[in-house]
Amino acid sequence: MKEDLYLSLQPDTLPSFRHLIGSSEPLSTAGALTPLRSEANSSSDFINGYRMGEELEAEKHVNYILSVEKKKDDFESVVMEHIRINGAYWGLTTLDLLGKIGVVDSEEVVSWILKCQHESGGFGGNIGHDPHVLYTLSAIQILALFDKINVLDIDKVSNYIVGLQNEDGSFSGDMWGEVDTRFSYIAICSLALLHCLDKINVEKAVKYIVSCKNLDGGFGCTPGAESHAGQIFCCVAALAITGSLHQIDKDLLGWWLCERQVKSGGLNGRPEKLPDVCYSWWVLSSLTMIDRVHWIDKEKLVKYILDCQDKEKGGISDRPDDAVDVFHTYFGVAGLSLLEYPGLKAIDPAYALPVDVVNRIFFGR
Ligand SMILES: [Zn+2]
Repeated sequence: MKEDLYLSLQPDTLPSFRHLIGSSEPLSTAGALTPLRSEANSSSDFINGYRMGEELEAEKHVNYILSVEKKKDDFESVVMEHIRINGAYWGLTTLDLLGKIGVVDSEEVVSWILKCQHESGGFGGNIGHDPHVLYTLSAIQILALFDKINVLDIDKVSNYIVGLQNEDGSFSGDMWGEVDTRFSYIAICSLALLHCLDKINVEKAVKYIVSCKNLDGGFGCTPGAESHAGQIFCCVAALAITGSLHQIDKDLLGWWLCERQVKSGGLNGRPEKLPDVCYSWWVLSSLTMIDRVHWIDKEKLVKYILDCQDKEKGGISDRPDDAVDVFHTYFGVAGLSLLEYPGLKAIDPAYALPVDVVNRIFFGR
């Protein structure tokens, strides 16, 4: 069960990419502040910064996402059973970024989401499953995509989340009490989307996140834990939502993040690790929030993500020629959105929702 809980906001734990778990080699950032830089590009192969002939296979990705929903018996579907609500968020957000969410029957999705709610107010990963903040955020985000947050009993959902804040400001993920800065982000993001952020002690929540900041400028899951790009996204986004970005040393963190770009153009999550498309989201969104995204080579990253597409059947994988999945398809497309790839809707780096959806929630437009 514990591993299931890691799936939505811990990039490396679907069976096909468990290879990245468990190592804890020492950090090696000191003295290595030499990020890859964009080289001026005058080649006529490029139009608007994007190389011709290497294109996002948007239509194939739409078909791939729709096909995953229909295949109930294959390996990916079985693996996804317990976290179906996270899978639905990844797939539906991708469709929205591609401008195709209209092909989905929103009433069917909304009615299924409501069936995943537990009497405590929290949501399970599927009907009849135990509630956890990981699934609760996905439920709120999916309803936000369809402009249906109003179907929720806001008090009931928000009280569930509020009840998970601990005395030190941290958040537990569910009634079993595991504490992690991922859960701080989820709680803060969820409550902000519900307009209920004032129901928690924000000052203490921020103080706890800041206590997880490391000397390298990054953040870990608990105080003293190693910096990791996924965790950095959670902490930076939580600080962004609460108006606390001044707590970050943007240059120091910016260096650590842009050092994640490797020769192939892809990004890794920690020093000495292989690149993986999902870090296109975790690293890029963080760099965007601290206004340092121009410190990486955007063209090389675009090429890396496009190289990870299954150009026949659709879908995006962690690395070129690996098997595709919905998780990496979402993070690939979301990364391209942050890179302003033509034809994609813009995504908000903190709420992980299309910008128009976020504007509708906060500005009513
Ligand atoms: Zn990955």
